[in-house]
Amino acid sequence: MEKKKIIEVKNLVKKYGDFTAVKGISFDVYENEIFGLLGPNGAGKSTTLEIIETLRDKTSGTVVVDGINLDEEPESIKKIIGVQLQSSGYYPGLNLMELIELFGGLYNRPVNPRELLGMFNLEDKARAKYKELSGGQKQRFSIATTLINKPRIIFLDEPTTGLDPQARRNLWDLIQEVRKQGTTVVITTHYMDEAEFLCDRCAIVDSGEIIALDSPDGLIDKLVAQGFDRKKEVKKATLEDVFIQLTGRDLRED
Ligand code: ADP
Repeated sequence: MEKKKIIEVKNLVKKYGDFTAVKGISFDVYENEIFGLLGPNGAGKSTTLEIIETLRDKTSGTVVVDGINLDEEPESIKKIIGVQLQSSGYYPGLNLMELIELFGGLYNRPVNPRELLGMFNLEDKARAKYKELSGGQKQRFSIATTLINKPRIIFLDEPTTGLDPQARRNLWDLIQEVRKQGTTVVITTHYMDEAEFLCDRCAIVDSGEIIALDSPDGLIDKLVAQGFDRKKEVKKATLEDVFIQLTGRDLRED
């Protein structure tokens, strides 16, 4: 079956003054995949994402999201995407349920806060304030809020940075669940094990250019075919496996 393209980026360029941060990149994201943008700091990942999210102007190139051209109908694109808010957007006086109701109102969408919080294991925190949450709970809430407007695509920027292994694996499960329910996920991460576990395909971005784009398996096989040999013998478990085996998979923060 032909896969449907839900994001089409062609020859995207972004200049900040004399500096070209994004140098004519092209890529497609297919409907319902988990697509990763990987790359060192300063590679141009956030710039690229923010342009697609309509939050930043591009210099040139075309961006089409679910058939909608960014140059023609940015407002229509906003309606079908889910973006993580800066935590400063979470009014300190409101609890999680009230925040979700507020955002639902802003999007003009009926929303069931209990159901959404339940999906992210936050039902016990319905009446808590954002600042009272642990790191993992904050990340889960932030991802929950991207779903309020029932978007077709969500964008997650380093969603597991700073989390302990239990919280990180829990978030991986949740991201897979969101995808299973039909949402396309675009994610940035610096954790290659995370990209390997979650992403159907990933683009490796460096200095404003895409230098590789394939499935994690495809990228690894290509390197191996070039004769790459690991210095250290690969063992059947990682140190993280040891950690999880010893401390269990249960979330600790709750
Ligand atoms: P990444 O998300 O991959 O870390 P960014 O897209 O944030 O990369 O940044 C790409 C490059 O563009 C960096 O060199 C950064 O310093 C520069 N840059 C980002 N935003 C601005 C801005 N508003 N003005 C000038 N330069 C910027």
